[in-house]
Amino acid sequence: MKQHHRHTGPTLGKKPKESGLLASLLLWRRAFCLWWKADPRLFTSTAALLLFQTLSPYVTIYFTARLLNEITGACRREVLFSLTGYVLLSTAVLALGSALFTRRRNTLYAACWQKKDQFVIQKLLQMDFEALEQPHTHELIAKIEQGQNFGGWGILRSANQFQDLAGSLVQILGAIILCITLFTRKIPAGHSLSLLNHPLFLLVLATGLVGMTILSPRLINRADSFWSSFYKTSTQGNRIYMFHFRTGMEQDRAMDMRIYRQDLLARNYLGYAACDFAPGSYADRYWHRKGGAYYALSAVVSRLFTGFVYMYVCMKAWAGAFGIGDLARYVSAITALSAGVSSLLYCLGSIRNNAPFLQTEFSFLDIPDRMYQGSICVEKRTDRKYDVEFRDVSFRYPGSKTYALRHVSLRFQIGERLAVVGENGSGKTTMIKLLCRLYDPTEGEILLNGINIRKYDYREYQQVFSVVFQDFRLPAYGLGANVAGSTHYNAAKARRCLEDAGLSPWLAGLPDGLDTCIGREFDENGIAFSGGELQKIAIARALYKDAPFLILDEPTAALDPVAEAQIYASFNTLVQDKTAVYISHRLSSCRFCDRIAVFDRGTLVQCGSHQELVSQTDGKYYALWQAQAQYYQT
Ligand code: ADP
Repeated sequence: MKQHHRHTGPTLGKKPKESGLLASLLLWRRAFCLWWKADPRLFTSTAALLLFQTLSPYVTIYFTARLLNEITGACRREVLFSLTGYVLLSTAVLALGSALFTRRRNTLYAACWQKKDQFVIQKLLQMDFEALEQPHTHELIAKIEQGQNFGGWGILRSANQFQDLAGSLVQILGAIILCITLFTRKIPAGHSLSLLNHPLFLLVLATGLVGMTILSPRLINRADSFWSSFYKTSTQGNRIYMFHFRTGMEQDRAMDMRIYRQDLLARNYLGYAACDFAPGSYADRYWHRKGGAYYALSAVVSRLFTGFVYMYVCMKAWAGAFGIGDLARYVSAITALSAGVSSLLYCLGSIRNNAPFLQTEFSFLDIPDRMYQGSICVEKRTDRKYDVEFRDVSFRYPGSKTYALRHVSLRFQIGERLAVVGENGSGKTTMIKLLCRLYDPTEGEILLNGINIRKYDYREYQQVFSVVFQDFRLPAYGLGANVAGSTHYNAAKARRCLEDAGLSPWLAGLPDGLDTCIGREFDENGIAFSGGELQKIAIARALYKDAPFLILDEPTAALDPVAEAQIYASFNTLVQDKTAVYISHRLSSCRFCDRIAVFDRGTLVQCGSHQELVSQTDGKYYALWQAQAQYYQT
């Protein structure tokens, strides 16, 4: 990105590309099905609410009209009493039902905020690891978030649209039933306004009314379509904004931010982001001119409509077609009919405007999972006799032209301690990632007990490994929950694992023990542990999982020499009967391993015990050993 790039947004007045109504409705239906699957009560409670809400005004209109007719007509006392009773009773029952279901529906919809994120999180958790690294995936996530921040566009809005859609349909139906007699009741022949009885007049009137009813919501939808077009062009600016105010403000970036004045660096980029909504920006100009004008026009059209309805109904009543009570009923019913049609059209327009947002969400949810998903169960062996073999494995990262691993063949013997050494970038971590099946080999195969690991059930297969990754992250929850990976855990076991990882005196000194939070994000009594302590907690977490394979990727990089020596001294106790794979830069710490695999530029160049390797003076291991020994000697 150029630093002084000026973002102007789409050209004013340019018509955004719209999705067809049918395509938009199909997208909406898909979103509706997702919500239905997540919680059908959302819709059953809404349907019940609609019944009460929509019936309410009509019941009132009906009884009020009869009451007015009675007052201006026969004015019978007992009829007036019973009609008043009906009005009060029906209003009370409907208001009660409406209030109850509003509460129920609102509670269920409040949970939608969380559920809509669950759709994204579920996909993120199950998608191919490879897809997680693609910039396109992150672009889509940023767009989804942006759509939600623009005003709840996307999947969340589609849940609300059900109420609007069903509500307007019920409203229209009720109004039609109430006002059908307006058109069938005739003005007595000979009256100067009997022209109003002519079918042609009715046709002209109906056309005019329908026209205005359609026009008003269309104008609002036209104004709102701004969001779907603006959405496509403002993602970059929004991502920078989010980065600066969210990710950039995370605690572990705070020091770099201050020391290197990254706020100043961000300012250039922020200028790029801020002008999306700043005074004079595209958005600002749009809402002051075209968007504002659409809204104003829509309001004028809808008032004109109400005016016409009053005029027509009053003229018919004045000419003697019906009494004063029916006048009130027809005016209310037609106004309700118009509101129903308007809201139906507005809703259809809104479904159409929401289509690009849904398309983005579905493109994300539809990111294909290409990794072969096997179904074989991993044999649960009490003797932990798991045998892993890399058979001529080569691997290139997606999109990369160079091989990170080439023709690696290696077999782990059961219960063995294997060290993997090599310079930076020689492929050690890549080998671990392939072993844990975060990626599949480009060529060759990896076997567990003689069967290609692709054939095992993915989740089950990953349960065979405990890994301490180089860049592990511990969430800011309690220590015990972190170690166990659950809020319900065996406290004695968690404590033992922390002690085995070298944290015994330290653990005893913690005021809240296993409940101590890691960091202060959630608890002011939380402790900001040092890098070395965190690494030990991560090791304890791997031990708690108690998987047959324990993989430690530079497990002692953040430890001081004393702590490191302690870990190695207790390594055999830590590992017990597990097969341990251990990656390290410090060759001195690999001597306790049974076998050492030496990697160089993606290939496995040597494999043997420390004594064997150090005696091969022309080998890579010897060179690495010498380089480190020299460093310690000087
Ligand atoms: P080591 O663990 O030995 O330091 P790695 O296995 O991390 O080395 O890296 C091996 C090679 O693969 C390096 O050239 C590195 O740049 C490349 N590499 C690592 N991760 C990725 C990735 N996610 N995408 C593309 N290339 C990668």
